[in-house]
Amino acid sequence: MKYISTRGNVEAKGFIDTVLMGLADDGGLMVPSEIPVISAATLEEWRSLSYQDLFLKIFAYYTNDEIPYEDLQEMAYTSYANFRAPEVTPMHQVSDSLYVLELFHGPTFAFKDVALQFMGELYSYISKKQNEIIHILGATSGDTGAAAIQGVRGKEGIKICILHPHGKVSKVQELQMTTVDDSNVLNLSVEGNFDDCQKVIKDLFGDLDFKSRYHLRAINSINFVRILAQSVYYFYAYLQIEDSAEKKINFSVPSGNFGNIFSGYLAKRMGLPINKLIIATNENNILERFVNTGEYKPGGFTSTYSPSMDIQVASNFERYLYYLIGEDAEKLSAYMSKLQSEGKIMIEGEDLQQVQQDFVALGVKNDQCLNTISKYQQEHGYLLDPHTACGIAAYEAFNGLDEIGITFATAHPAKFDEAIQLIDIKQEFPAQIEALFAMSQHQTVVEHDKDEIVRQLQAFYG
Ligand SMILES: *Cc1c(COP(=O)(O)O)cnc(C)c1O
Repeated sequence: MKYISTRGNVEAKGFIDTVLMGLADDGGLMVPSEIPVISAATLEEWRSLSYQDLFLKIFAYYTNDEIPYEDLQEMAYTSYANFRAPEVTPMHQVSDSLYVLELFHGPTFAFKDVALQFMGELYSYISKKQNEIIHILGATSGDTGAAAIQGVRGKEGIKICILHPHGKVSKVQELQMTTVDDSNVLNLSVEGNFDDCQKVIKDLFGDLDFKSRYHLRAINSINFVRILAQSVYYFYAYLQIEDSAEKKINFSVPSGNFGNIFSGYLAKRMGLPINKLIIATNENNILERFVNTGEYKPGGFTSTYSPSMDIQVASNFERYLYYLIGEDAEKLSAYMSKLQSEGKIMIEGEDLQQVQQDFVALGVKNDQCLNTISKYQQEHGYLLDPHTACGIAAYEAFNGLDEIGITFATAHPAKFDEAIQLIDIKQEFPAQIEALFAMSQHQTVVEHDKDEIVRQLQAFYG
């Protein structure tokens, strides 16, 4: 398997080089040159596999034997040993037609752990094997940073620096990042908003000279290995349902950067018989507008109860667009230039029909989100976090008669207690979260100033 850039100007790469590259050097995103297709018979053979063994089966199609099987196996098992559920991502049945796939049993109580625990192991492995210095650099609105830090804390050969907007992440998210006292972790708390942080990171990665001199590596979902690791639980969930081959199974996915839902698109292209892929967003509904009208136009940011989905530019959208227009890198590059110059893209005609076959989408309003949390607490005694509630509301809107809906629970409700309190629900915090409040914090508050941030980084890298 080779990997190529959506924009066509990067020489084909292997698996490890693709992981190390992150954003493609031509500004595009790396994708497999062809998507392997898994037969229905093979799928049935996978039915009794553990999460880890299923992970290994799927990765085997993508890693080109660049990593010996025993090594990959050890990484998969180590990655998921920290999860609080033996199934890794357990299914919770809510009603005859609704299952919730709980993706929040990792160290930071959000779904990002599923991919980032593995990515931490993988970076550490590459660092040892290839004698590579790895300096992870990223910006976060909360969950990614915490999960990435937990993925690599204390690991030899790796240093991680995460920028977050000062005072603008939830209390639990802040504590999860800043109470880590390993010396390979640097938290920069930037006086500014998430976009300011992201802009600095983009500038630093865009400077190819700086990127290679300091061995910068990315952890956001532009990295293909995250997409692949997330596709595993689509297969896992599907296989947990008895006689799934005879049923119509929909997935409803709380979405922001289009990463998690793109993993579902990949799973479907790999042959997993998914009926509907439901995109759930909040009032930042760029993806809903895209599916319904074909217009993709970032703009007008709103703060909501589901902050991890408060995103305007869905970075993985480029991957989907690439497949939509027939894997034509030249055409894709023209679309991306248009997005840059005109601030929007328009998809029409047969392409738009294809979009509407691939996805349905709902932008869930703030009050509908809270109402959904109340309703499921009252009727089913099951507490949803605000992101998951958006997914459930979208499931309710699109799940047809005789269809089964699997909704992803992307975070534990304790992570977003600020919203839960608004509807007078009192929850008990898990012990791991409760303990954070008594720990001391380590972070450096910096101005929103690229030069200052570069100085901090140079001092940290030594
Ligand atoms: C990151 C995140 C999302 C959005 O996932 P994408 O892959 O960016 O679409 C949804 N819910 C929670 C809790 C998250 O942390």
